Amino acid sequence: MRQLSDFKGADLVRNVLALIDREKPIHVSLVGGDPLVRYKELEVLLPELDTRKIHTQVVTSAFREIPKEWSRFSRLNVVVSIDGLQPEHDERRKPATYERILRNIAAVKVTIHSRITGNIASRPGYLEEFLRFWSTRPEIERVWFSLFTPQRGATGPEILTPAQRVFVINDLLRLRLQFPILEMQESLIREFHSPPKSPAECIFARTTHTISADLETKITPCQFGGDPDCAQCGCIASMVLAAVGHHRVLGRLTAGNLFQVSNRIGDILGGVKKTFKPLPESKPEPFTIL
Ligand code: SF4
Repeated sequence: MRQLSDFKGADLVRNVLALIDREKPIHVSLVGGDPLVRYKELEVLLPELDTRKIHTQVVTSAFREIPKEWSRFSRLNVVVSIDGLQPEHDERRKPATYERILRNIAAVKVTIHSRITGNIASRPGYLEEFLRFWSTRPEIERVWFSLFTPQRGATGPEILTPAQRVFVINDLLRLRLQFPILEMQESLIREFHSPPKSPAECIFARTTHTISADLETKITPCQFGGDPDCAQCGCIASMVLAAVGHHRVLGRLTAGNLFQVSNRIGDILGGVKKTFKPLPESKPEPFTIL
């Protein structure tokens, strides 16, 4: 990442829009670092994305004030990343402390996203306390949780043990009934028991492009890059699409079966096109811009 050159100002806006007009995504996530570092560019970019009717997510630490005017974009979701309760979060995320976040989101509605680590999972009652705190805040539309996703072969206290994973899943199933602000369907939470076995089986990985700050380098095989341990995946987005994939459409036929067939046909047609006719690819897919 340090070797990549990124863009600023008008160049950034122009190049992001060119990429978007080429790829025609239905959803874009702008993540970081922190996209609010380039807030002046965002002020130009967000109206353009709204005009194109693209659903957009800005994932931020809220170290800077979220402009009230952004509320006019009905397809925009501002997601604030929080690393647990105040003591843990403040230590890790300074200067984006709880106090500063609360000040910076005061005029808007946001989604809170928190990643559950092994350290958090080892403390019964932690998630409940977290939800109790954020439930009382009028600025919060919903809370989402992901679980920490390690690379294969990695070790460390952030990685959940199998027992912790089961404990967290059961806790979330209980808490979603107690706290409506926890916007996670039961079917999605249950997907954490058995994540996709590989990137090839992961609908999210296969329908998403993650593009780095130079707007060229693709991060593969999914947004985590490197060699992610799918068996321990905790990405909420991956689980949402896995749950959709397991939805039965007709008899034993699932939406995932239809996706695999459609994707295969798309691959074959794409291959035929490339072989016989050098047309530019225009398959609409959602993707993420880093
Ligand atoms: S999102 Fe999760 S399941 Fe999908 S490829 Fe990445 S690590 Fe694997």
